[in-house]
Amino acid sequence: MDGSQFFLLAELKIEIAIIKQFENLIYSEIEIMTFSKYHPCPICAKPSPHWERYPRAVCQACYSKACDLHGRKLSFYNVSFSGGFKAVFADNQEEYQSHTCYIEGVECWADEARFGGIVIEVVNEIIKFYHLNKPYGFFSNFAPYAIYLKGKIWSTSEHYFQAQKFVDTPHEEEVRQAPTAREAAKIGRDRCRPLRKDWEVAKDNVMGEALYAKFTQHPDLTEKLLATGNAKLVEHTNNDRYWGDGGDGTGVNMLGRLLMETRERIRYDLSNKPRV
Ligand SMILES: [Zn+2]
Repeated sequence: MDGSQFFLLAELKIEIAIIKQFENLIYSEIEIMTFSKYHPCPICAKPSPHWERYPRAVCQACYSKACDLHGRKLSFYNVSFSGGFKAVFADNQEEYQSHTCYIEGVECWADEARFGGIVIEVVNEIIKFYHLNKPYGFFSNFAPYAIYLKGKIWSTSEHYFQAQKFVDTPHEEEVRQAPTAREAAKIGRDRCRPLRKDWEVAKDNVMGEALYAKFTQHPDLTEKLLATGNAKLVEHTNNDRYWGDGGDGTGVNMLGRLLMETRERIRYDLSNKPRV
């Protein structure tokens, strides 16, 4: 190998090293830009492309529903090729001077995305739960956490809730002794049994009572509930339009609301606890 060949080889090696570095750079950028993962859209729960940088991003369908507080549709643009953010009212293209928008009544924040385009994220996290064996399954009333109320032990909050439909009758005790939460629910929903007259008025309080007992009598649950911060809690199911969200977000979500109320109440208790 003469001198010139040596230099040629050295140059080639350096060049390859530079190309490799450049490749790494490109790949790492591409990795951020492309998505192999999906997360449930925080609004409609449908699978939505997941970017590490935008964990609360809404899906394309929800994105197109963004409007201002009064329901006026909004459109978003980059100011130029290099990015920037501009929002306008879709009806007259008049500028909308805010990043805050609403989708299905949920407060969101629209902004320019790192690699161009616009991304909309929900402001507060939304936690959806339903199934016992899925994340946040402990919010379910079927979760195996016994509670102590009215001088008795109830295997689950579901047992207590269902039994109160027949308060002060032998049916109440029958529900309490049901072997599973499912069984307790079945007995409770049996309309051949005498439902208490004020049930419609009383049911929210009964549920609130059961939840407060559940989340204060189990320290691990107290911790898990408080760890949800200010997230909106939603029981997400097609099967229930009162306790749940009805599957499309139009349900009352009373269970989610009462859980948030319980969280508030526990926070209040803790902040007023005398220090030892
Ligand atoms: Zn969506």
